[in-house]
Amino acid sequence: MLRVAVVGSGPSGVYTAQALVGQSTVPGIRVDVLDRLPCPYGLVRYGVAPDHEKIKSLQGSLRTVLEDERISFLGDVEVGARGLTPARLLELYHAVVYCVGAARDRRLGIPGEELRGSHSATEFVAWYSAHPDAVRNGFALDGTGAVVIGAGNVAVDVTRLLARRPDELRPTDIPQGALTALAGSAVREVHMVARRGPAQGRFTTKELRELGGLPDSRVVVDPADLALDPAFADPAGLPAVSRRNVEVVRAWAAAGPPDGGPPPSRAVRLRFFLRPVEILGTADGRVAAVRFERTEPDGSGGVRGTGRYEEIPAGIVLRAVGYQGVPLPGLPFDAGRGTVPHAAGRVLRDGAVSPGEYVAGWIKRGPTGVIGTNRPDAKETTGSLLADAAALAARRVAPDPVAALRALGHAPVAWPGWLSIERAEASLGRALGRGPVKIPDWAGLRAAARAGHPIG
Ligand code: NAP
Repeated sequence: MLRVAVVGSGPSGVYTAQALVGQSTVPGIRVDVLDRLPCPYGLVRYGVAPDHEKIKSLQGSLRTVLEDERISFLGDVEVGARGLTPARLLELYHAVVYCVGAARDRRLGIPGEELRGSHSATEFVAWYSAHPDAVRNGFALDGTGAVVIGAGNVAVDVTRLLARRPDELRPTDIPQGALTALAGSAVREVHMVARRGPAQGRFTTKELRELGGLPDSRVVVDPADLALDPAFADPAGLPAVSRRNVEVVRAWAAAGPPDGGPPPSRAVRLRFFLRPVEILGTADGRVAAVRFERTEPDGSGGVRGTGRYEEIPAGIVLRAVGYQGVPLPGLPFDAGRGTVPHAAGRVLRDGAVSPGEYVAGWIKRGPTGVIGTNRPDAKETTGSLLADAAALAARRVAPDPVAALRALGHAPVAWPGWLSIERAEASLGRALGRGPVKIPDWAGLRAAARAGHPIG
């Protein structure tokens, strides 16, 4: 029997586990899927926006994988804590696949980023997704303006969540605290600001288009921003997704104010060719505005500054400029790329393959692609692992890895514990007159897991 640990139960971890047990060349593989959190599904639970119910429903297929009898979920086990180093893990399993994602947000590196009211989109997403490490004291939603910096799908997600009415979010699993705070939000104008043009937006068309379908909100595009972009005037040579994005933005720019009916109370303002240079504050250290430099295309896909500046007032600023991998002590790390060095998924230590150690997902390729991108990615890694199976099986490992985890002081939440959390979230929702509502804190999650199934 080959015993494999997969570290991380997001899409890349689950697809890795699935590929390992779903093949027939190496029979008898058993997989333990470890997660730092007591809950599975990674960014599907803690990153996909609550109003994206269709994508969230992917949890159903991830669940089917984790319920396979050859796979065990072990939540609340943090690799790197309580002596569970990568070296120790290798003594417990024939192979370890790290699928730990890219947890940290990138920074802008401009003055004012530390002001109150300036946050990463990652923090905001963690908050409305009930991540137990999310900031507890909430967000400054008492001003009418919000600025979101970036033009990727995360920027679109947080823009949409800020522009939605609370009654649209109530049927979702958004935690009660975030729902209440958003219900009291004074934000009415959300400026989503890109340093390049719509032809270079990283968002996908479906996500972009959704901004135009929000009830009680309209999208406003300034035609002057678009006039700067030659690709905009002639999008024929662009990749298909950029062409479609340009068409969507062009239609918004051409549309006048809505006719008839009460005017929408909220606006999403898409801005282009503006690069953030400073976040300006009030005398008491709160965000007041963002100062941008107007940019123009440099002829090779990038932009250059024009020396002209513009300020957009805002009470809250969210930077959505991408994620970045975090080094795991004991595992090699390429700080420039924010990934673990590898060859076809085999971890490289000082350029040489480290027997038994593999990577998949964002920590392998960087924070790009959609959820489905993790399938072929996991396939490549598991292909390497399976090709190494004979050598891996010859490695001597501890007889009972779960007992070894407990001996180190870990108290794994197994699958019944997770099901118990699900039941507790359903019952919390019933008490609030809602569907299932996520539990947002460590103590609550651990108590719920323990209530249905003793831990440890
Ligand atoms: P992303 O797609 O890499 O977009 C980052 C954005 O930040 C880009 O527009 C980039 O502009 C901008 N940016 C970077 N540095 C900047 C700076 N210093 N100043 C101003 N702008 C800056 O990252 P993401 O939005 O975090 O998404 C990460 C991944 O998750 C993507 O693959 C995304 O598709 C995926 N995702 C998907 C969904 C979905 O399918 N619904 C939802 C969320 C996330 P430049 O292009 O000019 O560098």
